[in-house]
Amino acid sequence: MRNTNYENTSEKTLQRLAADSSSALFDSYAMGRAIRLAARGSGQVSENSPLVGCLIVCENGDIVGEGFYGADDLKHAEAIALEMAGSKAQNSTVYVTLEPHAHFSRTKPCTDALVKAGVRRVVAAMIDPNPLVDGKGIEILRMNGILAEVGLLEQSARALNRSYIEQFTRAEQNEKIALPKFLEISLAN
Ligand SMILES: [Zn+2]
Repeated sequence: MRNTNYENTSEKTLQRLAADSSSALFDSYAMGRAIRLAARGSGQVSENSPLVGCLIVCENGDIVGEGFYGADDLKHAEAIALEMAGSKAQNSTVYVTLEPHAHFSRTKPCTDALVKAGVRRVVAAMIDPNPLVDGKGIEILRMNGILAEVGLLEQSARALNRSYIEQFTRAEQNEKIALPKFLEISLAN
């Protein structure tokens, strides 16, 4: 019990200190919290899916939405956090551990949901290495007038998604290896 209380107190103190200080410190605090949220999905999603956490903070510094990706066929972290924030997402800052996806997959593009909600700023820890995203999410957000930044606590976010990232690097390497073989065959023919 004592430990739980202590943890709650330190979390609140940290949040208050960060909010009272520079915005850069608050950004790091918020992204750290988003990364911890992302880690909660560990063991729930398949190895090829990313762990994603999302935190929505409104203008006065209040956390109004939180979400993490918890199962392959469920909503994305951004969608869950936006739902929780409701109209408070307007003019908010969204901290997300992975670039929001911009294509139609099992779920509608998160970029669309963020634009629709009227968020002011999106801070992503890293670009999504999935070739279907790969910077397009950030591009779309910017095209819609949202301030979009990438790279805050990137190393921690990458460490969390090592196997997710590796599948794309592997695919790229296989392509590079496959190409000369393919050429060999065409030359033989
Ligand atoms: Zn998404």
